[in-house]
Amino acid sequence: MESLWRKQTNNIPTNKSTLTAISDNQAYDIIVIGAGLAGILIAFYLQEQGKKVLILEADEIASGQSERTTAKITSQHGLKYDKLMKDIGVEGARLYARANEAAIKEYEQLIEQLDIDCQFEKLPAYLYTLLETEPLKREAQAASTLGIDAYFTQETELPFPVTGAVCFRNQAQFSPLKFMQHISAKLQILEHTKVIKIKGNRVITEDRAFGADKIVVATHYPLLNLPGFYFLRQHQERSYCLALSGCGNINGMYYGIDQDGLSFRQAGDYLILGGGSHRTGENTSGGKYDYLFQKAKQYFPDCREEARWSAQDCMPHDGIPFIGKYSLFTPHLYIATGFQKWGMTSSMLAALILRDELCGFTNPYASLFSPQRLNFRAGLKNLLSDMAISIKGLLKGWLGKPSKRCPHMGCALTWNPDEESWDCPCHGSRFDKSGNLLDNPAKIDKR
Ligand SMILES: Cc1cc2nc3c(=O)[nH]c(=O)nc-3n(C[C@H](O)[C@H](O)[C@H](O)COP(=O)(O)OP(=O)(O)OC[C@H]3O[C@@H](n4cnc5c(N)ncnc54)[C@H](O)[C@@H]3O)c2cc1C
Repeated sequence: MESLWRKQTNNIPTNKSTLTAISDNQAYDIIVIGAGLAGILIAFYLQEQGKKVLILEADEIASGQSERTTAKITSQHGLKYDKLMKDIGVEGARLYARANEAAIKEYEQLIEQLDIDCQFEKLPAYLYTLLETEPLKREAQAASTLGIDAYFTQETELPFPVTGAVCFRNQAQFSPLKFMQHISAKLQILEHTKVIKIKGNRVITEDRAFGADKIVVATHYPLLNLPGFYFLRQHQERSYCLALSGCGNINGMYYGIDQDGLSFRQAGDYLILGGGSHRTGENTSGGKYDYLFQKAKQYFPDCREEARWSAQDCMPHDGIPFIGKYSLFTPHLYIATGFQKWGMTSSMLAALILRDELCGFTNPYASLFSPQRLNFRAGLKNLLSDMAISIKGLLKGWLGKPSKRCPHMGCALTWNPDEESWDCPCHGSRFDKSGNLLDNPAKIDKR
């Protein structure tokens, strides 16, 4: 199912003139694996510093989650700041807020400087509830304390009454593929080049090998299980989107915090309605698109469905992305993952933090996002519950008699009737009904 962005944007052409020059023997300063928003931004900022960068992409540019996002560029990451202040303290939470606000500004400057036509718009972002307002009042207070221009309100333009909302001013939205089309134009990207393993400073694909001083893994879900143990430190969650016509205009971006809460944003003449979130592998009864369409008809009786799609993202155990060294034992290897459905600002942050780390500059946010951090207080409960689900899936896969088993680690796959896919509840790999790989961490088809 094609996203609205894909319908509106032609395939992104690679820089063919430079590709002919790429040979296995060439030495690169940096190889970036994955040409999603994170990989492309990381490569863009490193190349700007004069680094010789090559991107290796298994499929095509922006063919992963980045073409299926809702593309809100915001520091409003659900109910975040009140919890972060409790989990990691006021200074840590302030850094998180500043980093994400800085990422929004960086987009604005870059888009203006390069004159990128990508429907970039500055808008307010709202979290809303139909229930208890106390959590939102606390969130508004926490965000303001941390320096975000935020306030509590009961007035929104949504087509139903809310009991409360938190507004963050000066947020933004854009068309992700139009943006990526522009900034990838001068990068060297080898498409249809799947990386199978990394051996020291060599990146091994299905039929070639490339060398670089440093390697950045931007494959959405990390490519290697070990070292790093990312499969223990995050899980994947999936959500669904409809693009609708005939709904009128919404001038802000909205995100419901209640169970079954909905996400709204305008994209030109269309309204994007999102929701139906669940852990990947836990949608055996289906009905997610039907639910969204029923809500759409309830609120906008004249609406028509123009596109439908779904996507998933990595949810880190402590609610903070992993950006930095892949592990303590691999000084040449870097990672950007765990964007928790807020990968627009997180990809920009990853690009700026990794540019600084790889070019020897100091970055004020590097330690907060360091994959080597130990936030036991924030993450232990989620870590244990993720482990319990994975162990259950593994036991079911190995001891039971499931018809389908994931090639990643052997967990039992479950059927997702909305996408007609086999999904893994342990780590989130997905396969179409013929067994072809749709989403990593698995690297091969299911046969
Ligand atoms: C429904 C939904 C809505 C969202 N809405 C928002 C939003 O409004 N705002 C926001 O900030 N974030 C949002 N997000 C999150 C955001 O879309 C993601 O975090 C972001 O797109 C991830 O980008 P990425 O580059 O890490 O991954 P991807 O775009 O998936 O890129 C990874 C690339 O790596 C390639 N790859 C994988 N394995 C290999 C390999 N072995 N060799 C070579 N290449 C490989 C893939 O083919 C892919 O192209 C949303 C997420 C979901 C699920």
